[in-house]
Amino acid sequence: MGRLILKPGKERSLLHRHPWLFAGAVDRVEGRVSPGATVALHASDGRFLARAAYSPESAIRARVWTFDEAEPVDHAFIKRRIQRALALRAGQVRGTGAVRLVFGEADGMPGLVVDHYRSLDGQRQQLVCQFMAVGVDVWKKAIVDALTRETGCEHVYERSDASVREKEGLQQTTGVLAGDEPPELLLVEEGGVRYQIDVRNGHKTGFYIDQRDSRALIARHAAGRDVLNCFCYTGGFSLAALKGGAASVLSVDSSGEALAHARANVLANGFDAGRAQWLDADAFRTLRSLHQDGRQFDLIVLDPPKLAPSQQHVDRAARAYKDINLTGLKLLRPGGLLATFSCSGAIGAPLFQKIVADAAADAGVDLRILDRLGAGADHPMLASFPEGEYLKGLWLQRI
Ligand code: SAH
Repeated sequence: MGRLILKPGKERSLLHRHPWLFAGAVDRVEGRVSPGATVALHASDGRFLARAAYSPESAIRARVWTFDEAEPVDHAFIKRRIQRALALRAGQVRGTGAVRLVFGEADGMPGLVVDHYRSLDGQRQQLVCQFMAVGVDVWKKAIVDALTRETGCEHVYERSDASVREKEGLQQTTGVLAGDEPPELLLVEEGGVRYQIDVRNGHKTGFYIDQRDSRALIARHAAGRDVLNCFCYTGGFSLAALKGGAASVLSVDSSGEALAHARANVLANGFDAGRAQWLDADAFRTLRSLHQDGRQFDLIVLDPPKLAPSQQHVDRAARAYKDINLTGLKLLRPGGLLATFSCSGAIGAPLFQKIVADAAADAGVDLRILDRLGAGADHPMLASFPEGEYLKGLWLQRI
């Protein structure tokens, strides 16, 4: 096995069990190594630190498989990691046909995402995978075999069409890995709401599984309220609000395709379409024009796309987050509720809270933090890996 020897002092984060080794920390590479190969990481004094997957093209030069020197990375290892991930979810996530089974680093499989969808009629179980690092990519066959065996699910579809693949020297790819082609739309139920999911073309693996708990929250608080849902995509929060008995739901997205899908979701649930209004428009501009028109709402959801893809975008993204929260707050009636999110890993929870607090100050309103929101129990977080906590939200009430 090849070895990566670190520069003096660069072993610190690995000793704290952080699973990434950055290129700048590597002093030299010894032995034969290839992309995705398992390498041993050693401190400059020769001490063993971890076994990791080598990513020669990426700034994240190695991703840790195990900190245990006695544990080889082989088929049995892959199987144990899958079993461990499944055991963690067993009985933890209920009332849904959409569950994340493997969440990368937090499940000891850096760069791998596996989602499980179960159709409402129980006829179809579908796994959807994303291989976003070369380490898991070279183990693809073993991972798919272990997944089908351990879950009993025969259909596996790959959605490795994320641009991060290119940083790993991999091409984007999609297609069937096991079983047959997924249906055009998979009808899945969550919290008593039906969602039609397009696993081949939808965002991520087809659905924002990570917002499950917050959708339930919105459903619990929607009764009788006028709701505004910005960046609604296929209507996740809009449907939850309709289910919860909202008086009206105005949803905004700049993708006509997403809105068409959202409308179809309303019909699939038999909800009164008259309560739902859809705007194919830029949400930043729409918020301002709603304010000019004197519109007011009792419950607002702001869940924009990742506005800061990396550290260098943080300042500009912070201004954009502030902009939507500021105009959003101007539309909120006193006593009204706001669920506001950031899925930018580069913006930490304290910064996000500061941005929202600044927006409230500029809007001249006082806000009470009712709760902090995030991904569900199927998106575990490692204490040693704060980067895994990408989704953060605030549940606020205008006083
Ligand atoms: N809240 C959604 C997920 C949001 S994904 C859910 O829970 O399912 C982000 C969405 O923002 C995408 O649907 C994208 O089309 C939309 N979007 C991106 N930029 C936008 C803009 N400037 N105005 C309105 N929508 C935008």
